[in-house]
Amino acid sequence: MHPEFEAVIGLEVHCQLSTESKIFCGCRARIPAEQSVGEIAANSSTCPICAGHPGTLPVLNQKVVEFAIQAGLATNSQIHLKNRFARKNYFYPDLPKGYQITQFELPICENGWLNIETSTGSKKVPIQRIHMEEDAGKNVHMADFSLVNLNRAGVPLIEIVSGPDMKTSEEAGAYLRALYAVVTYLGICDGNLQEGNFRCDANVSVMPKGSTRFGTRAEIKNVNSFRFVEKAIEFEIARQIEVIRSGGRVIQETRTYDSDKDITISMRSKEEAQDYRYFTEPDLIPLIIDQAWVDQIKSRLPELPEQKKSRLISDLGLSAYDAGVLTGSKSLAEFFDQVVQKLGSSALAKPAANWVTGEISRLINEQGIEIHQSKIRPEHIADLVRLVHDQVLSSTGAKKVLELVWVSGESVHLIVDREGLTQVSDVSALEPVIQKVIDSNAKQAADFRSGKDKLLGFFVGQVMKETGGKANPALLGELIRKKLLG
Ligand code: ADP
Ligand code: MG
Ligand code: ZN
Repeated sequence: MHPEFEAVIGLEVHCQLSTESKIFCGCRARIPAEQSVGEIAANSSTCPICAGHPGTLPVLNQKVVEFAIQAGLATNSQIHLKNRFARKNYFYPDLPKGYQITQFELPICENGWLNIETSTGSKKVPIQRIHMEEDAGKNVHMADFSLVNLNRAGVPLIEIVSGPDMKTSEEAGAYLRALYAVVTYLGICDGNLQEGNFRCDANVSVMPKGSTRFGTRAEIKNVNSFRFVEKAIEFEIARQIEVIRSGGRVIQETRTYDSDKDITISMRSKEEAQDYRYFTEPDLIPLIIDQAWVDQIKSRLPELPEQKKSRLISDLGLSAYDAGVLTGSKSLAEFFDQVVQKLGSSALAKPAANWVTGEISRLINEQGIEIHQSKIRPEHIADLVRLVHDQVLSSTGAKKVLELVWVSGESVHLIVDREGLTQVSDVSALEPVIQKVIDSNAKQAADFRSGKDKLLGFFVGQVMKETGGKANPALLGELIRKKLLG
């Protein structure tokens, strides 16, 4: 970032709640696991209520309230025992009533925070509010006409609004991941980013460094990948600084992120945006929540990412970094728990964590999948860790095995046997190879003997080459030194 400027970032996250039915009617809200969105016939999950027919009345789904309370408790928010719904009026074909039922001046949760970890330390990001609302339908644009699918109309959402308190794309990314971990651990959102079930609007502004008056913000709409949010923010910060430096003025507007070109593009200016004419929803009475119910929900909350993280640090001796990566996604955390369970003791937890946060994370990130969508199973990692620990496999050999497991899902032992990757720790097998390497590198051998200790690495490397990387490196160093120095 330009040294004379600082950025201000606030995120609005829409999170689709995984309730069985919609927020104000009994229509199915969730696509069954065995079906994909494309297989659900358009408008098959609709009724006069979610289709907005006149004369119908909404009935609030209690599960939506319960999930919103869970989100509030897990983000250290205050739960408003009295809150209410409001109408946000606008006209769009996918909004059959002509208004969205949402919450406005009295949301269900307020004043929370979430802890994040970045390269510069940890920080509490304030959460201004969490409110419940209904999703709109979907317009499908054909060549010369458009179709409207209302299956999504009335699907429950919570919107989680952060304070304008993040300064870098890294902080924004860390906040999003932390929030994602919370809602998926709670099980209130399926976390499907491709379907847009967890999507983010990023508000970005810049101001002269040290200023207390925020600059004018642009809002980047509906980005549904963590990496793209980070990149969109980076682009936007640079763009706004450039506008100001060249004497221009940033205008308040809505922008969209084009991931192919890695740029943000203006969609519409906020200055000409319509007034939503919010007013209290007359068809729903104010929502009065019993404190006893909140207490009960609180007592049933599952272990949350922060707690799990502390447990991994204190019980297994993992670093804060490793524990952070492992608990960043529910599926990764569960996977790691199972690896430790398969290992039967916590003694090898550290090397197991290295595999999961290192090679495994790299592979799943590369393919943009969750660990359970890969062929890697906890026993693969447990086997690898044990074989390396027992010096049957070298770490290079183990990496090779993992790559093959990744492709085929075969057992580690099968691959090790077939590929002949067992590490050579047999002194009688290594000695002739060492002798050969010394003989053909007489000059280096003489230099080593006269004190050039650094050359040990050279000899280890040469023997490794001769053995196809299968020699046990620790043993090798010792043997070479002995042979050279006699
Ligand atoms: P709206 O509903 O019109 O988007 P809000 O006041 O609810 O407006 O703000 C939405 C988000 O914008 C919040 O996450 C808030 O933190 C963030 N925000 C507000 N002002 C700024 C600013 N100047 N720069 C960056 N983010 C901002
Ligand atoms: Mg907004
Ligand atoms: Zn319905």
